[in-house]
Amino acid sequence: MIKTTNDDNSSGAQRGDTDEVYDVVVVGAGAAGLSAALLLSRARRKVVVIDAGTPRNAPAAHMHGFLSRDGLPPGALLDLGQAEVDRYGVQLLQGRVDQIDHGYHVRMEGGVVLKARRVLIATGLRDELPDIPGVRERWGKDLLHCPYCHAYEVRDQPLAVLGTHPGAVHQALLLRQWSDDVIFLPHTLDLTPEDRERLDARGLYVVGGEIKQLVVDDDRLRGVELAGGRVVPRTAAFLFPRFVPHDELLTGLGCAKDDVGWVVSDRTGRTSVPGVWAVGNVVDPRAQVITAAGMGSTAAFAINTDLLDEDIDRAVEQHRYAAAATR
Ligand SMILES: Cc1cc2nc3c(=O)[nH]c(=O)nc-3n(C[C@H](O)[C@H](O)[C@H](O)COP(=O)(O)OP(=O)(O)OC[C@H]3O[C@@H](n4cnc5c(N)ncnc54)[C@H](O)[C@@H]3O)c2cc1C
Repeated sequence: MIKTTNDDNSSGAQRGDTDEVYDVVVVGAGAAGLSAALLLSRARRKVVVIDAGTPRNAPAAHMHGFLSRDGLPPGALLDLGQAEVDRYGVQLLQGRVDQIDHGYHVRMEGGVVLKARRVLIATGLRDELPDIPGVRERWGKDLLHCPYCHAYEVRDQPLAVLGTHPGAVHQALLLRQWSDDVIFLPHTLDLTPEDRERLDARGLYVVGGEIKQLVVDDDRLRGVELAGGRVVPRTAAFLFPRFVPHDELLTGLGCAKDDVGWVVSDRTGRTSVPGVWAVGNVVDPRAQVITAAGMGSTAAFAINTDLLDEDIDRAVEQHRYAAAATR
């Protein structure tokens, strides 16, 4: 559905026609960006959505927790979303946005530049994974992050939590809700006496030693091997990645960040830079697919109101000018 900038019969945007001015350029066609585009296009705004084709949950076979779409492959949700916005005339472009200049000029890789009255950044985040053999290959399959998304499918199974991030202790305590056989592997984490007490109290087993690799056989996780050679048999494991927001476009525009380095946006997604909105995982690592979609929809309302205010001001100015000219 998404068109490349080289397709035949290309529109102004695809050809890089800089005369067109879009009401809104949306960067990122995940749940957040597509939801915003749906609402804005139904409000008869001229919208283009640009996407680099790397949605965060692509490694997973199924998406859970999205009411009415539970269990759908993640790509199928995006296909449905793209088809819906296409119906309302949204232009979908495949490609990467490299830079946005104030004003707004949205610069794509390859030289296409689009002009916009407002920009909405919905570029998501990257999960930075620990450098342990097997981790990257199993990510999203039987090496998981979010219990709310995937623990139900591995309920009552022998599970491990890899202690590669300080957040792993809480993750293990939470995961215990889905299985009474959860082993916590602290790896290089130093557990406090309080951590140990809480893990004990919840009936979690702690097995010390550095993790050497994930043991995989016949495309399935069989266990976790420790440095000494011991293999802890497990059918699924969880880890807490480091979240790295794709926020270069926002920081390039000068958007303010909070004290832990995330771009700040208000409840409607408005950033500190007028005309620039940001929604979904790029500003909130906790946003699930349905939450990201909601954030996109909320931002779309706010952006349309902002555009409407500008439209009314312009109309009043022109009206006064015309009235003065006839006097
Ligand atoms: C393995 C895994 C499984 C998951 N399973 C679930 C689940 O079952 N249920 C659930 O609710 N959540 C799940 N999540 C979380 C889910 O992925 C996020 O909640 C969701 O993707 C956030 O949507 P988003 O629109 O903010 O970002 P994304 O879906 O990541 O979309 C961002 C888009 O922006 C594009 N982009 C980035 N930078 C640029 C640029 N410079 N120019 C152009 N385009 C750009 C990317 O290509 C991408 O398509 C899972 C996450 C992972 C890692």
